[in-house]
Amino acid sequence: MSQDRRPSGAPPRRMQLSPAARRAAAARRRKRIRRNRILFALAVLAVVLVVVLGVRALFSLGGGKTDGSSVPESSSGSAAAPTPTPAASTSVDFTDARMILVNNNMGLPEGYTVETQTADENTGKQLQTEAAQSFAAMQAAAKLDGVSLILQSGYRSVEYQQGLFDQQVEKMIKTGKSEEEALAAAQKVVAKPGHSEHSTGYAADILTDSYRVMDSLFAETDAYTWLTEHAAEYGFIERYPLDGEPITGIFFEPWHWRYVGAENAAEIKKSGRCLEAFWALYGSSAGSAPESGSGSSDSGSDAGSSAA
Ligand SMILES: [Zn+2]
Repeated sequence: MSQDRRPSGAPPRRMQLSPAARRAAAARRRKRIRRNRILFALAVLAVVLVVVLGVRALFSLGGGKTDGSSVPESSSGSAAAPTPTPAASTSVDFTDARMILVNNNMGLPEGYTVETQTADENTGKQLQTEAAQSFAAMQAAAKLDGVSLILQSGYRSVEYQQGLFDQQVEKMIKTGKSEEEALAAAQKVVAKPGHSEHSTGYAADILTDSYRVMDSLFAETDAYTWLTEHAAEYGFIERYPLDGEPITGIFFEPWHWRYVGAENAAEIKKSGRCLEAFWALYGSSAGSAPESGSGSSDSGSDAGSSAA
């Protein structure tokens, strides 16, 4: 195929070179060899670098422990992976208490305790001390922008959650379900005791004067718009985003915000990932990567609590 179609001109003539010209030619040749050696060395260096980065990325992804539950990078959506290298790193410290992950599959740690205080003077709802202070500051800042934020639900003890759950099971049994069926059905409406993020003290259900219903239409309020722009400055992240259900196991909950601290919130927001995906990608050293739950929504327990 690829035939050399050099014009059939006269073959290059062998010329007698002067000693100076020969020396110059030899010097050029040496220079060329030197350049080739440098290029070769650079190529070897590049290969080594790629291998090292690859191995490091593998370790930080799987933590050497492959339980196959780390979420692939591509699954977390739209404009992820801006960097060409797979190396994953973050300044977030996953042993930070504010980074605790609680969902349908990961219950609260044994003997978990948290200090709380009132975060919203009007509703009297509480959050973990630091989260409460931050919420109050955020509420004041929003007010200056003409936006009202209401803490509809904050800290709920495991006992309180147990009460909500038991009520729900009772209700299900009255509809003729067996106890086993009732337990399964209740979990789809109310988070299991020990599995509600509200029991960590870091979860806040936020509504606004003009819209006091916990449903997806809250996303159309100016309060939600304000939160998406400013909440991270006060350490709150959107916990159950619109496209997060395959990973979080929970449908869009625009009212449910989670305190992680301002520096962590900035990192997580920048990553464009939900908390489970962020943990799976970067928090492997803490083990037990999250699985996506199914069915049991936090919104049910919120609804239960506000109805109670
Ligand atoms: Zn909630």
